[in-house]
Amino acid sequence: MPFHERRISPRQSYHPLQASAVSIFQKPHTFQLSKAHGALFDDPVLIEHLYIHIPFCPNICPYCAFYKESAGRERVETFLDALLRETEAWKELVRPRTIFFGGGTPSALSIPQFEKLLGGLHSRLDLSGLEEWTIEMNPATVAADKAALLREAGINRVSMGVQSWDDDVLKSLGRTHDAEKAEESFHTLRQAGFDNLSIDLIFGVPGQSLGSWRESLERSLRLAPEHLSAYGLTYEEDTEFFRKLGRGEMAPDEGLEADQFELTATLLGKSGYLQYEVSNYALPGRESLHNSAYWSGKDYLGLGPSAFSTVGSRRWRNIRETGIYSETTLAGKTAVDFEEVVTEELKSKERAAFGMRTLLGVPEEEAAPWERDLVGMENKGLVTLSDGRWVLTARGRLLADTVAEVFI
Ligand code: SF4
Repeated sequence: MPFHERRISPRQSYHPLQASAVSIFQKPHTFQLSKAHGALFDDPVLIEHLYIHIPFCPNICPYCAFYKESAGRERVETFLDALLRETEAWKELVRPRTIFFGGGTPSALSIPQFEKLLGGLHSRLDLSGLEEWTIEMNPATVAADKAALLREAGINRVSMGVQSWDDDVLKSLGRTHDAEKAEESFHTLRQAGFDNLSIDLIFGVPGQSLGSWRESLERSLRLAPEHLSAYGLTYEEDTEFFRKLGRGEMAPDEGLEADQFELTATLLGKSGYLQYEVSNYALPGRESLHNSAYWSGKDYLGLGPSAFSTVGSRRWRNIRETGIYSETTLAGKTAVDFEEVVTEELKSKERAAFGMRTLLGVPEEEAAPWERDLVGMENKGLVTLSDGRWVLTARGRLLADTVAEVFI
């Protein structure tokens, strides 16, 4: 399970830019699933990016603020029925190029549960244009028969939440796997035929030395994954780590975190990985298509509890609580607890803020409204104009969140 907190995805519990949007209603509401969803949009839409949130985790990590809960068999079955019902309601508008199973711990589903989910999706969706289908997997839940089933069903990319190769760091993160199991799981996935694997790591964990982080990077590189994500630990409200921080029991070391970030860019760069986004590295041609779609402002549909969707000028979030989501959806209604209008102005802010974190940066003409700020940051060595695009410098990548704030 990757470390999600800084990822820009529809499962975010808070959209960084939503405060500036026009909220059209804030209270939970429903509308009939039987109503053709196409009628909700002014222009014809065809959604190419599909996110599916599977909210169950076998155990709860102390740093994680994502919506998740423990799985009971009946609850999972009802959830799957609801998810397929929701898929059915959208199927005419969805022709996925990418699908992403996130959570939660999607890989915690059992084989019969996966058979039901994957069979249900295959029978409802036109998958003929599918290029990338990713699942997040927790190393503790990888097994050969499950890996074979997923590969056979068309899933072609796994994002594996290794987090660290140091067992002490894994313990302090509350993870249930150890380094040995993670390595075994990686080989199991390769043997099942996955030729597009991502390893997700976390730095900035209290007690994690620069040496431990270097070892995590080097051990990852020895396995030669196609993709690596390296996220700095953040302290999210309503987590155990946040409370510990408040009590003074944990103390981030920003200097060490900056060294770990720089070491990541240096070591992975030397090994041929492109830092195509501040926290994401890929061998050429192995960038995540799904995440790149978010960062470039494409429409996406999120199914399942707490999932965000953005389609045309509408953005909404499904109800977070799985029981209510399932009950409402199975009653033939759409469970949405937040919706807003995404104006053209907001879209352009978002494209600039997310684009600036990527290797491509922001075209000069799109960034024109912020030119004065960007020139100020250029003078501080944070951004530079290259081939008509504003991009982060190496120093700017270290302060990417601060740079992105300029657009909001
Ligand atoms: S396994 Fe579950 S609790 Fe742990 S980080 Fe992932 S979503 Fe959060």
